[in-house]
Amino acid sequence: MTHPSSRLASGSPPFLAPLRACAPIDARTSVSGVRCPACSGVDDKVIDSRMTDDGSAIRRRRECLTCGRRFTTFERLEELPLSVEKRSGDREPFDREKVESGIASAAKGRPLDAVQISHTAEEIEEQLRLQGVEISTEQIGRAVLDRLRELDQVAYLRFASVYKGFDDAADFQREVRLLTKATEPKRH
Ligand SMILES: [Zn+2]
Repeated sequence: MTHPSSRLASGSPPFLAPLRACAPIDARTSVSGVRCPACSGVDDKVIDSRMTDDGSAIRRRRECLTCGRRFTTFERLEELPLSVEKRSGDREPFDREKVESGIASAAKGRPLDAVQISHTAEEIEEQLRLQGVEISTEQIGRAVLDRLRELDQVAYLRFASVYKGFDDAADFQREVRLLTKATEPKRH
């Protein structure tokens, strides 16, 4: 099926190296005007800054000065083109709006607002970008599922039913059982 490790080993380094050489990262400067995911305020203070493991981005822990919410941003010097390998083997450029609309339709009628959904899609994109410049639709699907599992279980199940291609009630039941197992032990 897919071979994520070999794909990572091939694409990344040649793309990253020249960018780093011509645009050194200055960890002291920070992008301003980042919107708080909770209240949309734009004033925040940076609590912590560090380079991601692969050196391609700066991860910043921020605290909103309006509501106190803490959140994380990843800053990149330049956006590298992110290529998606589809199940058919075809490739296409990554499109965050597709991820966003996938989440939005799974979250229809659920208590997830547009800001949360768009922020979630951003986080997913950043997470995927750290995995390399070539990713698979499977990686995208799994990243979305991981986030939705924490955010909203109904949206998670709806997305899973489309993504995993459930075709009967038994599949759905199995997934509900797995989900219950994953969340229940804390209560014991
Ligand atoms: Zn806030």
